[in-house]
Amino acid sequence: MFMSAPRGTRDILSPEVEKWHYLEDQIRKYCRLYAYSEIRPPIFEHTELFLRGVGETTDIVQKEMYSFQDRAERWLTLRPEATASTVRAYLENKLYAQPQPVKLYYMGPMFRYDRPQAGRYRQFYQFGVEVIGAGEPAADAEVILLAVHLFAHLGLKNLEVHLNSIGCPACRGAYRAKLLDYLSQHIEGLCRDCQARYQHNPLRVLDCKQEGCRGIAQGAPEFGAYLCAECKEHFAQVQAYLGDLGVKYQLNPSLVRGLDYYTKTVFEIISRELGAQGTICGGGRYDGLVEECGGQPTPGVGFALGMERLLLTLENSGIELPGLEPLDVFVASIGAGVQGPAFGILYELRRHSIRADKDYLGRSLKAQMKQAHRYGAPFVILVGEEELARDVVILREMATGKQAEVPLGEISQRILALMGGMEDER
Ligand code: ATP
Ligand code: MG
Repeated sequence: MFMSAPRGTRDILSPEVEKWHYLEDQIRKYCRLYAYSEIRPPIFEHTELFLRGVGETTDIVQKEMYSFQDRAERWLTLRPEATASTVRAYLENKLYAQPQPVKLYYMGPMFRYDRPQAGRYRQFYQFGVEVIGAGEPAADAEVILLAVHLFAHLGLKNLEVHLNSIGCPACRGAYRAKLLDYLSQHIEGLCRDCQARYQHNPLRVLDCKQEGCRGIAQGAPEFGAYLCAECKEHFAQVQAYLGDLGVKYQLNPSLVRGLDYYTKTVFEIISRELGAQGTICGGGRYDGLVEECGGQPTPGVGFALGMERLLLTLENSGIELPGLEPLDVFVASIGAGVQGPAFGILYELRRHSIRADKDYLGRSLKAQMKQAHRYGAPFVILVGEEELARDVVILREMATGKQAEVPLGEISQRILALMGGMEDER
């Protein structure tokens, strides 16, 4: 029976997967450059972690989680994001006892019951960073800078950095009251979801993507006027750091982000090449999260970046990522009796780090040459019975059609020398 992959999931195959490799390599390189070390948290966690760490009123918890009971009736959830896991790991592994801040990054699949469309999947991949244990505005600036620097390195221009501050619990109360007051006058214009959000989490109304709600959000009072002195100073310093380094950003008073645990700085990096799913990267400060997860009050800041959306943006911007490298050598063999020696030659080449392959289906010589072309191999080794009896093979240079006999023991050296010559010509 034929079965398709579940809705919202897909296979990533060559030549796309080589682009993923390239991106992953660049991401690791930049994380090393900025002194972040990798964390690989589990793919599933106790459901409770996300109820606390993401927040009960969020879309993620209310409608997007893949939760299930295992055979021992534990409630588990496929991770919808990795910040909560990182904070759990920080506490569980006593990373707070190490020199602070702890700077971590992760890369891997996340799972959300979203409505699948371009740039939106049910299994998707995120790269994210977290700085735990530093409350200074420099930490906010650093994570933004890391993302901006990486994007610039990848050749992306015209990305917009949107920045806002949503204050701390101290100043949010006053703002919340003011916002509720404003929203109560527009309640019938809000979508059904927002009418519910109005009750539990009015700030989220500002983040709604529905046309009607966006109009209402635009007229809402701005948080800036309600920030306490500390939050105001923090936000000014984040902007000063970015401004001094020439990082362009725009203040976006309606930016609040979907997760409950954000405090102070929130930001998104948006591409105009993506249409509706324009946000590639979103993040912010979460000074209340570690405590929420059972630790001592500890500040944190980070971001998560959608890998599919990053790839889509690169593609829509006409940026070519390196694809599959061609094979170095194709080993063509003629006759049943030479298969063993041909296999030996193949292994010998590979032991010299020469990328090589052969035919496995007993194809004709003509079909094997076609295959060599398809692989883009600049060299073909022809293994024939008559030549083998004299301990030689034929080496053919595909570009020129030049052929020469090479003694069995010298094949790798000869190829490496020719490959070196090709490098020099480039
Ligand atoms: P959106 O508003 O687009 O649903 P979000 O606020 O839910 O995004 P975050 O939780 O901030 O997204 O996740 C960070 C990034 O992960 C997003 O900016 C996006 O690039 C990516 N992302 C989120 N959900 C998906 C998804 N279902 N498919 C692909 N990428 C996603
Ligand atoms: Mg979402």
